[in-house]
Amino acid sequence: MPTYRFCPQCGDELMTLPLSGRERLACAGHDCGFVHWDNPLPVLAAVVEYQDKLLLARNAAWREGMFALVTGFLERDETPEAGVARELKEETNLDAESVALIGVYEFMRKNELIIAYHVKASGTIALSDELAEYRLVAPEKMRIWNAGTGFAVADWLAARGYPVRFFDRQTGADIPDPRAARAEADATTLQ
Ligand SMILES: [Zn+2]
Repeated sequence: MPTYRFCPQCGDELMTLPLSGRERLACAGHDCGFVHWDNPLPVLAAVVEYQDKLLLARNAAWREGMFALVTGFLERDETPEAGVARELKEETNLDAESVALIGVYEFMRKNELIIAYHVKASGTIALSDELAEYRLVAPEKMRIWNAGTGFAVADWLAARGYPVRFFDRQTGADIPDPRAARAEADATTLQ
C-alpha cells in the first residue's frame, strides 16, 4: 500500500513506532509529533430505488458484468445525507427524493468505512464519464456480491421481506450468506 515516507509537517523521515498499542508511522523528529494514524476513510454508498427497481452501475474501470452501488467520498463541510444526494446527481443525474440510513459496514480491504443509504430517486438517468452502464433490477431478482456494499443491499432486502441471495463474483455461483459463516468462525474463536 502506498504511504508516506517523509513527514508532511517537518520533512523528516517517518519511522514505525509503537503508539496506543499499535505500530504507527510517526515522525522521528524531536518536537514534531506527527503521526500517520491511517484511519479508515468514510465512503458513501447508495441503494438507489428508482421506478420500483434498484439501480446498479458499472464503473468505467471495471470489467464487463461487474455492477455495484453508486458510491463516493464525503466532501469537507458536507453532511453524509447531502453527500450521497450529490454523488447520485453527479453520477446518474437523478434527484434524491429521500435519504435514509441503512447501516455502517466495514471495508477493511481498502481501509474504508461504508455508510450506506437508501435513496429514493426520480428524474432522468444520464451517466457521468465515471460510469460505463447501469442496470435496473427488481428487488426480488437481486443477487448480492460478497463484499462491502453488498451487505447493505442484503440488509435493505431482508428488512422488506425480499429474498437475500449472495453470489460469488469470480465464479457467478450462488453462495450461502457469508456473514453467517463469519459469525460462526467468530463464535468458535471466542470459545
Ligand atoms: Zn515531523
